[in-house]
Amino acid sequence: MKKKILVTGGAGFLGSHLCEKLLNEGNEVVCLDNYFTGQKKNVIHLLNNPYFELIRHDVTMPFFIEVDQIYNLACPASPIHYQYNGIKTIKTSVMGAINMLGLAKRIKARVLQASTSEVYGDPSVHPQVEEYWGNVNPIGERACYDEGKRCAEALFMNYHRQNNVDIKIIRIFNTYGPRMHPNDGRVVSNFIVQALKGEDITIYGDGSQTRSFCYVDDLLNGMVKLMNSRDGFVGPVNVGNPNEFTIKELANKVIELTNSKSKLITMPLPSDDPLQRKPDISLAKKELDWEPKVQLEEGLKKTIEYFQSII
Ligand code: NAD
Ligand code: UDP
Repeated sequence: MKKKILVTGGAGFLGSHLCEKLLNEGNEVVCLDNYFTGQKKNVIHLLNNPYFELIRHDVTMPFFIEVDQIYNLACPASPIHYQYNGIKTIKTSVMGAINMLGLAKRIKARVLQASTSEVYGDPSVHPQVEEYWGNVNPIGERACYDEGKRCAEALFMNYHRQNNVDIKIIRIFNTYGPRMHPNDGRVVSNFIVQALKGEDITIYGDGSQTRSFCYVDDLLNGMVKLMNSRDGFVGPVNVGNPNEFTIKELANKVIELTNSKSKLITMPLPSDDPLQRKPDISLAKKELDWEPKVQLEEGLKKTIEYFQSII
């Protein structure tokens, strides 16, 4: 059945793909964004669609609308961007969550929070299961993002328990794909842009830290499945690709796939950079019947094609 859906952060990387997917599935979509890290360009191809509406708005301010579902994605996701103004990042996570939960409560909408694997911090449990409480430095440089997202999860659970708000929480692990901003600063876009331009590939630390990279289409399938999952299942649920790679392996893969002459150079490891990360996705498999389908090489090829077209 056609639904009216609000997507906050809808002009960003994940949000723009989500708006497109929801429209393709026959829904009406309202996209809300303050264009901090997102851009109109990401959704310009949707503007002719009469079922799509784009609104400039900051989620730290209240917003009123009648919708059936709310996807709350507004928040910068790349360390360089969320650390640019840490206070604003915390406000976006916390006040954004309060505003969207208040709205959901009033209009009786279902609301999904885009949480993150960062709630596990530098994890001492590997792979990460949802029951693990995490290892986050509350006063470090990543705290504005990690603690902001942890507080948002707490708010979601409290609105659910106290006010019966219909919530879902997804913990997203590193996701990449076309439409990442060339200056996004995250590792996949950095390495591809550097390789295509023949510039040095910047490995932070010795490159032995690991991440598990999920292709955007897989991630969004999991997100929409969670939004439409059975009543009473709120999560949090990990969604990501459990294949784990070192950052050095990623760099070599990107060089191979782009046929680049770029050299690897090392730069200082940012503080509190997690050593390892890999989702346990048993819960997503069981509750959502979801698992990723696109493996790293295939996803990287599509992402490289995108960056080739814009550089
Ligand atoms: P992104 O930076 O491309 O998108 C975030 C969007 O939110 C941008 O369009 C930005 O302009 C908007 N935004 C930021 N602050 C806002 C505010 N105060 N009001 C309104 N809009 C605001 O990042 P993304 O990768 O698309 O991430 C989307 C969501 O998914 C974020 O909440 C992020 O924390 C979460 N997430 C992403 C990943 C990932 O690997 N991509 C991993 C974990 C969690
Ligand atoms: N990284 C890197 N070079 C870069 C960008 C990132 O070596 O140009 C490393 C970073 O230190 C981290 C990993 O790649 O260990 C993933 O970084 P990203 O910012 O993409 O995501 P997050 O740390 O939030 O998982």
